[in-house]
Amino acid sequence: MGALENGKYRERNQALSQRVEELTQENRSLRDALDAAEEANRAKSRFLSSMSHDIRTPMNAIMGMTAIGLSHIDEKARVQDCLDKIHTASAHLMSLVNDVLDMSRIDSGRMTISQERFSLADLTHDVAVIVRPQAEQKRQSLRFEIGEIREESLTGDPLRLRQILVNIIGNAVKYTQEGGSIRVCFGQRPAREEGAVWLDFLCEDNGIGMSQEFLERIFLPFERVRSSTVERIEGTGLGMSIVKNLVDAMGGQIRVESEEGAGSRFTVALPLPVARQERERALPAGASVLIAERREDRAVQMETCLRSGGLRPVRLEGGMEAVTYLTEAKYEDRMPCALLLGQELEDMQPLAAAAHVRQLAGREFPILLVSEEDWAQIEYRAVRDGVNAFVPCPLFGSRLLDTLAHLIGDSGENADAAGPRDGDYSAYRALLVEDNELNREIGVELLSMTGIQVETAENGLDAVEKFAAAPAGWYDVIFMDIQMPVMDGYEAVRNIRRMDRPDAGEVWIVAMTANAFVEDVRLSREAGMNEHVSKPVDLERLQDVLCRRLS
Ligand code: ADP
Repeated sequence: MGALENGKYRERNQALSQRVEELTQENRSLRDALDAAEEANRAKSRFLSSMSHDIRTPMNAIMGMTAIGLSHIDEKARVQDCLDKIHTASAHLMSLVNDVLDMSRIDSGRMTISQERFSLADLTHDVAVIVRPQAEQKRQSLRFEIGEIREESLTGDPLRLRQILVNIIGNAVKYTQEGGSIRVCFGQRPAREEGAVWLDFLCEDNGIGMSQEFLERIFLPFERVRSSTVERIEGTGLGMSIVKNLVDAMGGQIRVESEEGAGSRFTVALPLPVARQERERALPAGASVLIAERREDRAVQMETCLRSGGLRPVRLEGGMEAVTYLTEAKYEDRMPCALLLGQELEDMQPLAAAAHVRQLAGREFPILLVSEEDWAQIEYRAVRDGVNAFVPCPLFGSRLLDTLAHLIGDSGENADAAGPRDGDYSAYRALLVEDNELNREIGVELLSMTGIQVETAENGLDAVEKFAAAPAGWYDVIFMDIQMPVMDGYEAVRNIRRMDRPDAGEVWIVAMTANAFVEDVRLSREAGMNEHVSKPVDLERLQDVLCRRLS
């Protein structure tokens, strides 16, 4: 072979091997794409099969228990037991459906995070009210600690934040044995951007914990620890995945540390803009406020709050001590401007102390109950015993000072003390708008239990016509379904709000719908509804709405 041919041969060879290299590369990327598509497909199939399995389980319970109940219809206790189980299974089914729909919103990029002003105190209180009963049922100690919080009024999506916190704390309660302990802390750090803070949240439990290997998968949908303990606990394996997506969407971070058998620790940090609020609080500078509380941590917290508001705390631990102090103070004309009654006293129940103090100090003297009890449960008795207002724990300074300012300004008139929840609503009239006959029947039945007079409409247009035909003020409240034929609920509300009559803007309209998501709540608010009650509706929720609106 000549040198020329040799050179050509080498060149061709080089071109060929380059081509082979390119083809191999192409092949590799195609194989990667195929692998990724197959993995996505497998994940989808896994998702679908987990979902149908998870839906089937409570459905089975519902159908089975219905059959058992029907075949023992004359045995009251047996039917009651079946109904209780059906109730539990349906609640689980409901949460599964909600989670799956949330996941699909996340997947399709339809998850929006709203930016509205909210109070950290309200958010924490709502979360505590939701998770506390479950912890109490398991006799766990659930402690909320509030670290250094400088900004209580923030901007963000309070409903989504609540979802994150309830999911994490709810899990701590679920995956911690009876009698275990859970500690929840809130704190704040300044953020680099002007006018924003990092909200730090920590939830620590001494429950069953997780292996290191599982921790790597905890944020994947449908992943649950495979153990007989976890399998006995109800769950969908979607909560953590939703939480992670929400935290990411808010620009935050989430970390989990855990040890099997020892417990878990979740930390979340979220950057949130501060909502400026100009608020004038009229508090008498230097005035004394009496605190009666045996719990050291709580008493110190109250003292700090009062000092930050320019007030002077005087601290006692017992009810009798407080009564003696106030008797002398009254005699010597140096009454404190209010009494903060804590959750634990040395010698008596706080409400008993309230009753004594009320008798001695007269009608005008402000008595505040500062406690982590559920106000709805104790309100009736507390008001009867002379408590003027309730400040929930975990304690936020602004909440306490606002309530105090309000009470002192009102010279002791009832501030938060509304009437009892189960009032008599027979003088009021509701319009229930619902297209589904069965749901209409349930709605009428539940509403009638509160005593209110109920009229019905079968779709949005029917409701608009009934409203237009009725004299002004005829309806006190309208419960409006959303998805209806002829005219949907949003359209109907817009039509009602646009009418030229005095009650068009005033009538209280409550969305009563299966669309139970945060976005739906927002949509109904935008359409002009005042409140949102998600289906399945329960009597307590209806009473709550009526109580706030009509009492
Ligand atoms: P689930 O509906 O099963 O509770 P999540 O997505 O909320 O689903 O949590 C996924 C899994 O992570 C749980 O099934 C459980 O195995 C584990 N897990 C979550 N939180 C904790 C915790 N605090 N302690 C122990 N295990 C936990």
